[in-house]
Amino acid sequence: MSKTTFVDYICRPYCLYFKAEKENIACRGAEVLEELKSKGFFCPKKLPIITKNPLFWEEYRSPLTNFLCKQCSFRLEDCDFQSRNPIPGTEPCGGYILISHLLAMNLLDLDFFSP
Ligand code: SF4
Repeated sequence: MSKTTFVDYICRPYCLYFKAEKENIACRGAEVLEELKSKGFFCPKKLPIITKNPLFWEEYRSPLTNFLCKQCSFRLEDCDFQSRNPIPGTEPCGGYILISHLLAMNLLDLDFFSP
């Protein structure tokens, strides 16, 4: 996985938890977006700049929890959004945020995230 690529279009602009010194670690959201990019589902250079909207990540919480978070190595210990006792208003990672917004804008198809 190209670190600079996913860091530049997912982590730096959208992930509240991004730490530059840990940029070699990708959450499941970033892994899935890189997979979709490699298959030609979108081009990072053509993505619109998004303004974070919590309504979108809540709207897609069920399919994205199943498809992303349940397979994410950060979920158990490092993810505030998916912790057992989440603090109200906690954000998901940048990958989850970007995917939920692309779904809301019909730039990705929800079928991809369904079993
Ligand atoms: S929201 Fe948390 S558990 Fe879900 S993909 Fe992102 S880091 Fe992983």
